Amino acid sequence: MAEFLEGLVISNLGKGLAVESKNKTILCQSRRNLEKIAVGDRVLWSQTGVDQGRVEKILPRRSLLARPNRNGKIRPVAANIDKVFVVFAIEPYCDFLLIDQYLAICENKTIDAELVFNKIDLGQNTDIENELLIYQSLNYPIHRVSTITQTGQEELRQALNQHISILTGQSGVGKSSLTNALIPNKDLKTKSISETTKHGRHTTTAATLYHLPDGGALIDSPGVAIFGLAELSEQQLAFGFREFQPLIEQCQFHNCRHLHDKGCAIYHAAETGKIAKSRYQRFLKLREKMPTKN
Ligand code: GDP
Ligand code: ZN
Repeated sequence: MAEFLEGLVISNLGKGLAVESKNKTILCQSRRNLEKIAVGDRVLWSQTGVDQGRVEKILPRRSLLARPNRNGKIRPVAANIDKVFVVFAIEPYCDFLLIDQYLAICENKTIDAELVFNKIDLGQNTDIENELLIYQSLNYPIHRVSTITQTGQEELRQALNQHISILTGQSGVGKSSLTNALIPNKDLKTKSISETTKHGRHTTTAATLYHLPDGGALIDSPGVAIFGLAELSEQQLAFGFREFQPLIEQCQFHNCRHLHDKGCAIYHAAETGKIAKSRYQRFLKLREKMPTKN
């Protein structure tokens, strides 16, 4: 029987998977009937040729981020992530609704979430600062950075250290600029993946795992929206607002939808200022946007 080796999927190249194993990168095909494999997956693979192999088994995942494809089917994109960095900036104007959506998904997947306020060289904004006080009180770490002045980059590096992370946020907030700053020689590394795996052409949109100089890894998935609301139920959305969690049990009805209901502990807490009203309002907005309200 062929020997099974352990490997780490570092990129999905279309024609196969780039699997890192024993300091080599091997182009692997997936065994038939195996469920879809994601970047960050730990796998068992067997050799089928020189620097070529077949993934036989996916090892248990710590977490999984997915996105729906064109047919609406959920497709895994990144596995085993333990930290998500939500990037935002003054410009384009900070979309807290989107931030809360990301945070709610992370909360449900038990993935740590941290906020990255990029472009702080552009100055201060009182509205944003007031909103950030809320996140601070909810124990979300906030990193203030600039890729131009390099402010805060060392602190961000330390937060990334020893973790498998991903940056997310709306287009234009500076995710690629940050990724380039955090991963030295990123382009060279990308090129070497496509060269060592010869047949697999690395496309710029392929999600790729890059090791960080001090340990840990950053999964770069340019242009890939992997935080869809489709993955959450209405109950999960409420749970995703961490300040709601101790209140959910106190609602008068166990199937409370946390709307403007009289017996709703969350509505009451928002009305009396025990929790932030702005977050509650964004919860209501996200609830309206949910594709599958049940
Ligand atoms: P992405 O779409 O999130 O990947 O954002 P990009 O990295 O492509 O950056 C979008 C724009 O913001 C580019 O024009 C960058 O030069 C600019 N940018 C990125 N980081 C900073 C920053 O720290 N300060 C300022 N002023 N501009 C930045
Ligand atoms: Zn309620």
